Amino acid sequence: MMVDMDHTAVAIALCLLGVFLGSFTGASVWRVRKRQLKQDVKDGYKVSETAQRQVEKLKSKSIAKDRSVCLHCGHTLHWYDLVPIFSWIYLDGKCRYCGKKIGNMEPLIEISTGLFFLLSYVLWPGTLNTAVDYIHLAVWLAAGVILIGLFVYDTKWKLLPNVAVWPLVGLGAVSSGIALYRNDFDISSVISILSGVLVLSGLYFVLHRASGGKYVGFGDVKLGLALALLLADARLAFLTLFLANLIGVIVILPGLIRRKVGMKSQVAFGPLLIAAYFISGIFGAEIINFYLIYTMG
Ligand SMILES: [Zn+2]
Repeated sequence: MMVDMDHTAVAIALCLLGVFLGSFTGASVWRVRKRQLKQDVKDGYKVSETAQRQVEKLKSKSIAKDRSVCLHCGHTLHWYDLVPIFSWIYLDGKCRYCGKKIGNMEPLIEISTGLFFLLSYVLWPGTLNTAVDYIHLAVWLAAGVILIGLFVYDTKWKLLPNVAVWPLVGLGAVSSGIALYRNDFDISSVISILSGVLVLSGLYFVLHRASGGKYVGFGDVKLGLALALLLADARLAFLTLFLANLIGVIVILPGLIRRKVGMKSQVAFGPLLIAAYFISGIFGAEIINFYLIYTMG
């Protein structure tokens, strides 16, 4: 991509937008968690005391319609406590009111989302000329925000909440629609999308059924469906599955060797799939081309 003022300005603006959306995502993760725990209590599940106490402090009812509060003292946070990254640096990662550590999760989500927006624009694998191109980029970015939230949620609590997964499936449908439109609704394009769904969602569905929901939750099946629709390409779907397993081995192997992770340990597939999806979405075409050239000699 050529470096000029226009591109630089757009890249910076997108990065800042990402940081602010990341801030919203960080708060949403806790709000969704609160609703989940409330539901768990209602359904008769055991909820840890710490989680219960933290959640009590969140007085919210809906995801969008409230203000953030400190998870320790319950103090309502003002706008100047909530300036992404800067407030965290200024306050040294502590609550202004009770002095307790507020954790690294929020600034990490903000920085990741900002970087994701910046890199997506700079490294965008397709063209950015037509309205359809920009809609595609917007769908990719919106899905990325939800996926970063899901990444954190699944890592922390081994769960993929429906409230985030279904909108993702919706965005996937739009993305697949764009791919079909670009290929003049050619049958090969339809087959490619369906094969991708089969690869990413079908496999997890089989594992889910075979293990009685023990190894693979139904959330992974729905996430696989969303990711396959978003990628809208069988090769990219296959690459995502391959990379997810590769990352999984790299991440889990040290634990297995040191016997910290047993064969019966629960593995969250979500974060692995999501990380693999990001790589496939941006670098997938290049990786596949490189592989083809390499294997064809
Ligand atoms: Zn506090």
